[in-house]
Amino acid sequence: MGNKWLALLLSVMLLLSVACGASAMTAGTYSATVNAMHGPMTVEVTVSEDKIEKVEVVSNVETPGLIDWPMREIPAAIVENQSLAVDVVSGVTVSSRAILSAAKAALEQAGADMDALNEPLEKTVPEDEELTADVIIVGGGGAGLAAAISATEQGASVILIEKMGFFGGNSIVSGGIYNCPDPDLQDYADITSSLDSLVEEALAEEPVDELHAQVQATVREQFEAYKQTDKHVFDSAEWFALQTWNGGDKVGSLSHLLFFAERAYPTLEWLESMGMEFADVINSASGSLYMRTHTSVMPNGTGYFKAFESTLATRGDLFTALMNTEGKSLIMDGDKVVGVEAVARDGHKVTLHANKGVILATGGFAGNVELRQQYCESEKWPDLSAKVITTNMPGVTGDGIFMAQAAGAELINMDQIQLLPYANPVTGATSDITLTYSASMYINKNGERFVREDGRRDEMSLAIIAQPDGLMYTLFSADAVPAPATGKTLGDKTVAYYLDNHLAGYVQAETLAELAETLGMDPAVLQKTVDDFNSYVAGEAEDPYGRVTFTKQLVTGPWYAYPRKPAAHHTMGGVNVDTDTHALRADGSIIEGLYCAGEITGNLHGANRLGGNAIVDFCVFGRVAGENAAQGK
Ligand code: ADP
Repeated sequence: MGNKWLALLLSVMLLLSVACGASAMTAGTYSATVNAMHGPMTVEVTVSEDKIEKVEVVSNVETPGLIDWPMREIPAAIVENQSLAVDVVSGVTVSSRAILSAAKAALEQAGADMDALNEPLEKTVPEDEELTADVIIVGGGGAGLAAAISATEQGASVILIEKMGFFGGNSIVSGGIYNCPDPDLQDYADITSSLDSLVEEALAEEPVDELHAQVQATVREQFEAYKQTDKHVFDSAEWFALQTWNGGDKVGSLSHLLFFAERAYPTLEWLESMGMEFADVINSASGSLYMRTHTSVMPNGTGYFKAFESTLATRGDLFTALMNTEGKSLIMDGDKVVGVEAVARDGHKVTLHANKGVILATGGFAGNVELRQQYCESEKWPDLSAKVITTNMPGVTGDGIFMAQAAGAELINMDQIQLLPYANPVTGATSDITLTYSASMYINKNGERFVREDGRRDEMSLAIIAQPDGLMYTLFSADAVPAPATGKTLGDKTVAYYLDNHLAGYVQAETLAELAETLGMDPAVLQKTVDDFNSYVAGEAEDPYGRVTFTKQLVTGPWYAYPRKPAAHHTMGGVNVDTDTHALRADGSIIEGLYCAGEITGNLHGANRLGGNAIVDFCVFGRVAGENAAQGK
């Protein structure tokens, strides 16, 4: 071979090696740790000399449920495309980018050609599509998936579109808590005080209308019967409905609440039949106002989605999900809703025709700063600007509410927003809350208690906003969490994990005085606060803030605290619906073909949603919407 040919061959080989980014690597497994959304994330990459063989996220503290999607999809896409120029999962962008940057750092160690790995991938935009199913569902959060399950249960075909790259919406990052009367379990509730005075107070109220009087009469009868037993927590569907209505200042609809409360327990059984696991204890979730909260065994709302997704996987061709597809408007045939116009993230149009009905399940708008300022800023919440953090997912922006309005639906209670009192002050997350089951207290930066911890969420949030820096600490001791290595957070990490990694502002001290010093509080003030609290738990004095659900005294160190702030969480207003989930016009008539379920609706919760009622709402009414739409009822 002449020199000329040899030179040509060498340059072709050089070009080839440049084109294949993975070509010059040293085989082995490499690991890199980066800072993700909520803390450190470690990714391991295994390479041969010319190929990326495997990418795996081996540890992280990201939001349970959400991280599952990028953890599954991004490593697979890197391997499939032998590229780092793969798409992030929309809505989980920061965690997605963290996986990519950790993978990049690991591949750099392996000696990969980074320019080639970052070369943009060629993409083709698909043609516009036109699809038909019995039921079209917009939104893949809790209500959307519950509706898909019940519609397919009826044999209907379903196409569900989800704007983001993951199922779950705000439901999957929720506390996973589910209120419903459950007399057997309630009898074992860990509570030192009696809740009977709450029932007596509600029964002593002057009824505001006939339905109120009827419900009071039913509850009175049930309460008298309960008093003849040796049970220590009274409950019934009617009492649950009445208490929820009162807890929302009677702004919600009592008849909707009776429907909701009656179906709460049968719907819990429906969930269990799909594999949803609840802990077999009853608590009083923050803002629930009663001992009827069931907690999920799995972190946050992930248990519900595991049950939903595994059930939908058995539905075969009846169920199709189009991810990254945003519903834009409803297709009308005269006054009737017959489909949805949507656009996929890559820009192609998707036109969806419904044989039987369209279900809007697109959630609320607490995370949409412009809308919440427009509808909800008031004397009660004077500032809902971007300064107020949110617990909401980025895809939940109120879209469906206005799609329904354009089809003629009435919007009600749009001024009612809920702030969740105890979010992470920086990220709005709740997965970093320690599960102390009411054995904790709230203190301000001065070490003083300032509100009952078992009160209404709006009252707690307003009280926190009035404290120095609008911030509080959740304080607990070894009485609630015997050891940091075993104490669990809502997101299923340990307290030790947060302490060791200096996350979410967690602090620990052997004595209360040391804790006070760490937090810049006067030790004497904090000691008095705790002593007073313990005297209320022991029943020696009455809590001036009116807490009723006491469980444990806090006396034994170590002591723990972490900061919290109120975050825009839930909008109680939305589309006016009947209990069959039909969207209604202002004259009360039904918009044929249109059903709405979940946070998009405005009838249920009134001025303050009780903690633990949102999941019951989306499960009960998502199920009803699916059943009715499947039958075109
Ligand atoms: P709910 O509890 O009522 O089910 P979620 O917040 O859990 O409410 O879920 C709402 C879901 O709807 C989210 O997954 C969100 O991304 C999705 N969504 C919102 N707007 C649209 C839209 N225009 N098209 C498709 N999906 C949407």
